[in-house]
Amino acid sequence: MLAALEVSAQTCTAYRLSPDKEKKLVFLTARVHPGESPASFICQGVIDFLVSQHPVAQILRDHVIFKIVPMLNPDGVYLGNYRCSLMGFDLNRHWQDPSPWAHPTLHAVKQLIVQMNQDPRVSLEFYIDVHAHSTMLNGFMYGNVFEDEERVQRQAVFPRLLCQNAPDFSFSNTSFNRDVVKAGTGRRFLGGLLDDTSYCYTLEVSFYSFMTAGSTAPVPYTEETYMKLGRNVARTFLDYYKLNNLIKDNRPLHIQSSEGGSPTANSTAGKGISVGRDATDRKKEANHNGRH
Ligand SMILES: [Zn+2]
Repeated sequence: MLAALEVSAQTCTAYRLSPDKEKKLVFLTARVHPGESPASFICQGVIDFLVSQHPVAQILRDHVIFKIVPMLNPDGVYLGNYRCSLMGFDLNRHWQDPSPWAHPTLHAVKQLIVQMNQDPRVSLEFYIDVHAHSTMLNGFMYGNVFEDEERVQRQAVFPRLLCQNAPDFSFSNTSFNRDVVKAGTGRRFLGGLLDDTSYCYTLEVSFYSFMTAGSTAPVPYTEETYMKLGRNVARTFLDYYKLNNLIKDNRPLHIQSSEGGSPTANSTAGKGISVGRDATDRKKEANHNGRH
């Protein structure tokens, strides 16, 4: 399955045009850090879901354009590098001024994002960059910090919804920052470039395990559970747009309620881990400094 994604940084698009309306646009990138292979399985899950015949996928394709760049650093992946490109750059520190010569994939993708952001026919609403984390458990997100409290709350909506859909996604591990060291990342740079109705996140997933509300020990991630997280990310967009009254969901009730559940076949946990913060969460923050 991974082999299918081991291609140059090509753009996959799944959409149908509706010329009379402004289309919502979701932009997803992965593997800017070549060693973070779980990001490819998540990306695979997103793509598999979006091109499927699932009723949620069909509604999403009717209303939302998905631009997906599954591999931002193909030369680094080819060489087996952990973090850098062929020329030794950490591409996720060069979003501010990528060079077409030294960072060609990043330069091209940034140009595309800027171009789409200026296109009056589309509204770029989400940018999500997928990574894997070397010390944290579960899936979680990094977001940006804003002065406007209402914007901060709006930014928390998508990760909260994802937490309801994906038992291995942790809202309590999700954090918002503006560290100087992260200034050249896609999430930070595009957060400053796009307008205040756009949301930019880094989606992180553990290299090794997740805990759900019902588990007593960490459950090792597999290719399948990474892909399941990807499928849950994709369908969360429908929940988001339904919540904002931008999409009317006409699916039969039995379909609406049959989604979700644990990424493991036999677990009964279905709600994700708690949203609140406690002493354990604060301890976990010490681990946020792992490589990702
Ligand atoms: Zn990373």
